[in-house]
Amino acid sequence: MKVCKFGGTSMATAASVTNVKNIILSDPDRKFVVVSAPGKRFSGDTKVTDLLYAAYAEQQKNGDVIRLLDEIKSRFVTLATEMKVEIDWDSEFKTIYDGIARSATDDYAASRGEYLSAVLMAKVLDFDFVDAAELIKFRKDGSFDAMLTNDLVEKRLKHAEKGVVVPGFYGRLPDRTIKTFSRGGSDFTGAIIARGVAADIYENWTDVDGFMVTDPRIVSDPQLIDVLSYEELRELSYMGASVLHPDSVFPVQAGGIPINIRNTFAPEKPGTLILKDVSGYDRPLVTGIAGRKGNTNITVAKAMMNDEVGFCRKVLSVIERYGLSVEHVPTGIDTMSIVISDMRAKHVDGEKLLNDIRGMVNPDSIEVSESMSLIAVVGHGMANTPGTAAKIFTALWKAGVNIRLIDQGSSELNIIIGVEDDDYNAAIAAIYDAFFKA
Ligand code: ADP
Ligand code: ASP
Ligand code: MG
Repeated sequence: MKVCKFGGTSMATAASVTNVKNIILSDPDRKFVVVSAPGKRFSGDTKVTDLLYAAYAEQQKNGDVIRLLDEIKSRFVTLATEMKVEIDWDSEFKTIYDGIARSATDDYAASRGEYLSAVLMAKVLDFDFVDAAELIKFRKDGSFDAMLTNDLVEKRLKHAEKGVVVPGFYGRLPDRTIKTFSRGGSDFTGAIIARGVAADIYENWTDVDGFMVTDPRIVSDPQLIDVLSYEELRELSYMGASVLHPDSVFPVQAGGIPINIRNTFAPEKPGTLILKDVSGYDRPLVTGIAGRKGNTNITVAKAMMNDEVGFCRKVLSVIERYGLSVEHVPTGIDTMSIVISDMRAKHVDGEKLLNDIRGMVNPDSIEVSESMSLIAVVGHGMANTPGTAAKIFTALWKAGVNIRLIDQGSSELNIIIGVEDDDYNAAIAAIYDAFFKA
């Protein structure tokens, strides 16, 4: 049996919801459906999830949530009318108005897009609606409780007679409040359900033909990846390939369940298969290229640093105190760099952090740049093939891109390159051309 997750674009309009319906009803094995909130209907449109975050912010600012919630309501009313199903939206939205007014965080508000989307889809399909709050559980400290969740999903869904629709993106804390995953988290919900019901396959339906070698918004019409390993998927999605939430791999890996990325708007295409073992497939040297901008790079220099026992630990302890996670720590004899991805997002006071490092290790100099892009070139094939790095560096050199950092993971599954944000697109395009157009 199959678990199918449909993303925001698939849930955005009556035309796309009709595709979703046809896809599910064309195969009786498609028994478990996970949905996102409706996404953009056209370029410039706003995703329902973003409207909900904005509604919560308005509520906090001036207690007024009606205007934005009415906008969302009218989208659902239109969808239901066009899909010819009847739902008591007045009562659903009354509960949401009250719930948002009572919420201490924006999680409840944000989760309602998925909730309403699932209510709608269950009606359209005549499937049962099962609330994610009953299945997906977090611990008191906010961490996801995989064991408890897996038990609940198995008990509640595995032997379900009828098809089931579950909202993506959220679950519940022990105090019964709603908590969401990070953005794009419906992919993770789909993977959790797939593991819990021991699905034969996890189909992730989106708005592109599959996982592409690189971001189609940077390189036009990049090659499609036919087969990807779990490890490659993790590297690429963690490093920025936004097709799948980076945590999605864990539940399916634990259950040995293949993922199939498919296009809701071209269901006849086979999409990308993500498997545990890809050794039997004929695959290119480099499987994919992904990256993200806006990382912070702090470079600390001090003569004879290498002789100073505990130097790195002291610097890192400051970073830890600020709750930041370290991505890379390239070191030289007298220099140490720390690359951090979430400094901007966490609104850390950079000056204060640098002063703390100064106080701790008394460096000769300390520099910070907030515009470093990290790019990962990923592929199992790179490990045994000399010259891969040379090919990447030559391509970047020819494109006039200055390399600021190089790191090769010990698994030899990836090579990470740091460049200036301004060079990000050119660097991705140059690496893509070197491996896929030569
Ligand atoms: P959904 O709403 O279905 O979850 P997302 O917008 O989260 O869809 O993810 C699909 C989008 O990911 C595509 O429309 C594409 O723009 C973007 N994307 C980024 N990197 C890649 C890649 N390597 N391959 C395919 N799509 C990618
Ligand atoms: N709707 C949520 C978001 O926009 C979750 C998801 O689509 O996966 O991030
Ligand atoms: Mg997504």
